[in-house]
Amino acid sequence: MSTPKILILGAGYGGLLTTLKLQQKLHYNEAEVTLVNKHDYHYLTTWLHEPAAGTAPASRAQVDLHKIIDKTKVNFVKGTVASIEPEAQTATLEDGTVLSYDYLVIGLGSEPETFGIEGLREHAFSIRSINAVRQISEHIRYMFAKFKNDPTHTEYLTFVVGGAGFTGIEFCGELGDRIPELCEEFDVNPDLVKIYNIEAAPSALPGFDKELVDYAMEVLMKKGIEFKINTPIKQCTPEGVLLATGEEIKSATVVWTGGVRGNSIVERSGFEVMRGRVKVDEYLHAPGYENVFVVGDCALIFNDQGRPYPPTAQIAGQEGENCGDNLVALVRGELMQKFTPELLGTLASLGKGEGMGQVGDKKLFGSSAALMKKASDLRYLVKIGGIGLAMKKVKL
Ligand code: FAD
Ligand code: NAD
Repeated sequence: MSTPKILILGAGYGGLLTTLKLQQKLHYNEAEVTLVNKHDYHYLTTWLHEPAAGTAPASRAQVDLHKIIDKTKVNFVKGTVASIEPEAQTATLEDGTVLSYDYLVIGLGSEPETFGIEGLREHAFSIRSINAVRQISEHIRYMFAKFKNDPTHTEYLTFVVGGAGFTGIEFCGELGDRIPELCEEFDVNPDLVKIYNIEAAPSALPGFDKELVDYAMEVLMKKGIEFKINTPIKQCTPEGVLLATGEEIKSATVVWTGGVRGNSIVERSGFEVMRGRVKVDEYLHAPGYENVFVVGDCALIFNDQGRPYPPTAQIAGQEGENCGDNLVALVRGELMQKFTPELLGTLASLGKGEGMGQVGDKKLFGSSAALMKKASDLRYLVKIGGIGLAMKKVKL
């Protein structure tokens, strides 16, 4: 049999860790491995709330793929996937290039879930990539400049964050740190600035431990965040948002953090999906395709109670490693291992030096949570690029 071709789409947590496993374990000529990614960098999606608010440069969340991919073992293609043709065993890029495979790994991440809410796509920002967050932080700064030119427009200083899940909460933590800096820089009275975090459910961080949620809200309220809970956003317009209560908030900056769905390319390519995610089997196979694996936010897996696991970097990385090991096993004619997520806990940042979370049955608050989060970031960076990369990237 000729050398099998393994094609990996997306260099996020799932796709990159699959690739690194293959790079580490496969011997010369055992397989031809190709990784396709839109950019020639990997980004730490889990850090994007910082550059979005402007509390850290976007470059800090970028990792140069050329420095971590061994090109003698992996072909790297910088390109944008347009479609997958599972029957023909090919993927087509936007520039027309067609790549064929024997085994495919789909790790194309997620897209904002707008639930069909009118105007969100057109008028709201989303925290979803390096380029997207650069635009958000530049826009926020520009609003201060615009206000100085025309102080009658208070909507320039009104910021709406739609959704108080972990992304919304972490972003508000950063925004709460950034706004005082901008007020000082532009000589703006901080009392004129309004930041609303609007949540449809009866609680922020629905389903999460109440004591930790209360702590997070308290920290954020002290930073000037105003919560509107149990208040769905109904519409987004160029002027701001309309709430289900009938209230209208005039704002020149709406950041939608109301949830995610799997990359739409997967559904458009004919795979069966739920909210854009493929319900995979215990080996992460797409139904009906033993040679197609799905990892990360594009994959849907369930716990023993039949509840879906949330899409997280933690699970995406573990899926990537399992998939890499199983591809090595397949190439060598060995048995694959079933995937079982190992939940290590949840940690969220609430701005500089602040955080909260749960690791095992231990609840963490304040600086100890922030430190634990840094430790987990360090571990990840060491895994993908060694201690040198970790020391360069993590702010100690
Ligand atoms: P991603 O990491 O999103 O990577 C997808 C990759 O595919 C990207 O490189 C992208 O450029 C590429 N790509 C996309 N489309 C194409 C295309 N058409 N062609 C080629 N390439 C393409 N989870 C946690 O566990 N812990 C956290 O602390 C945490 N914090 C978060 C903070 C924020 C602000 C956000 C937004 C999310 C956070 N998450 C966290 C969730 C976590 O980031 C995601 O679950 C994780 O990134 C999913 O990994 P992935 O590999 O599926 O996709
Ligand atoms: P999410 O789905 O977890 O939260 C979205 C929130 O928006 C929900 O609370 C939802 O009720 C709310 N919402 C939905 N429609 C709304 C509306 N019309 N008006 C107002 N509110 C509305 O999405 P997310 O926060 O982007 O997180 C995505 C995934 O990434 C999750 O799995 C999350 O656990 C993970 N994540 C983890 C961390 C961390 O561990 N530190 C940080 C960020 C994200």
